[in-house]
Amino acid sequence: MEQADFSNIKDELENAKKGDTILHLNYKGLKNLPPCLLYDICYRNLKTIYAKRNLLTCLPDNLNQLSSLVEIYMPSNNIKAIPDGICNLTKLESLNLCDNELTQLPADIGRLGNLQKLQVSVNKLASLPSSIGQLRYLKTLELMRNDLSTLPISLCRCESLMTLNLDYNRLTSLPRHFWRLTSLTELSVCGNNLITLPQTFANKGLGSLRFLLVDKNPALHVLPISLIHIDTGNFQSCRQRNPLGVLPGVVELVVPYKETSVPIVMPPEIRDITAPWNSIPSLQELGLRTTGALRSRFSDPKEFLALLDSLPCTLKSLLLDPTALCQFCLQEVYVSALPLLVFNKSVFYLGFCCSVKCAVQICLTYSTNFGMDIVYPLYMPVI
Ligand SMILES: [Zn+2]
Repeated sequence: MEQADFSNIKDELENAKKGDTILHLNYKGLKNLPPCLLYDICYRNLKTIYAKRNLLTCLPDNLNQLSSLVEIYMPSNNIKAIPDGICNLTKLESLNLCDNELTQLPADIGRLGNLQKLQVSVNKLASLPSSIGQLRYLKTLELMRNDLSTLPISLCRCESLMTLNLDYNRLTSLPRHFWRLTSLTELSVCGNNLITLPQTFANKGLGSLRFLLVDKNPALHVLPISLIHIDTGNFQSCRQRNPLGVLPGVVELVVPYKETSVPIVMPPEIRDITAPWNSIPSLQELGLRTTGALRSRFSDPKEFLALLDSLPCTLKSLLLDPTALCQFCLQEVYVSALPLLVFNKSVFYLGFCCSVKCAVQICLTYSTNFGMDIVYPLYMPVI
């Protein structure tokens, strides 16, 4: 099983031994990395290993002996697992294992404290370890063509993340905590099974978001209104499948528009939608809004957090990451709100308002100032 003969890479190994910090091993037909890399201390200054398109099926667990490694580039192999030892490579900045056979990432991947680029597209990952949220300097995360159906909420702690590619997975939603990714400029989620997108996108945090590509999500019929000025691709191959009834217990609406009707799935946190003629939200909603408003009274955010400690965790989570912001007054809304649906450039956008008063104002803004079609609510009393 051990590949005895490394004669075809003799020159490359010699150069690295002489002090070249990059080891070029692309397209060499290797089944294993040469063992001398790990037992010969001459290689300890290696910073980069290029080993694209070989026949590697595993990586040595003690690869961390090459403690100067900054970049591992090994796409298009047959690697099935990343050994835990790799998590000790604290200088590693870039790890590319695209087009391999990975089924999971190491649980301790968060220990790669300097990692800026993680490229693991075209693998078989079904989940991500929650420690991924510890990668504070991670700027690029590529997860295209895996088997992900959910994402860990901790991913939203990767505050340096600028590019996130999740194309062709099995996601039905994204965490509403995504607004915390304040550096994100490009997010691609094409070819998933998305039904809704978080309302807080782009209007709370996410101020840097420029591109959100959502093509080929057949059950996606509406986008959050906060994305109305953001390039969302061409919305192709969406609105083809009926999303209604897919998520149990979720409030749904069917809104007629011209000859068609628009099926709308509310964010799962919304428990009831306040009818346009009823200006009083539920008691739970009022309680949450009152508690949320206390935040501004504390100069130290930790004191507000301490106040929330006495609440059930679902309420605490909602208060820290609200469902939506009122489109007009920007007040946080949680479990009940007044929906509004706007049609602009062939895409339907869903937003929420805290009250009839705000809904009237926002409808006037969109229809009068921007010339957009207000699809819902159809009946709007004059205040
Ligand atoms: Zn409002």
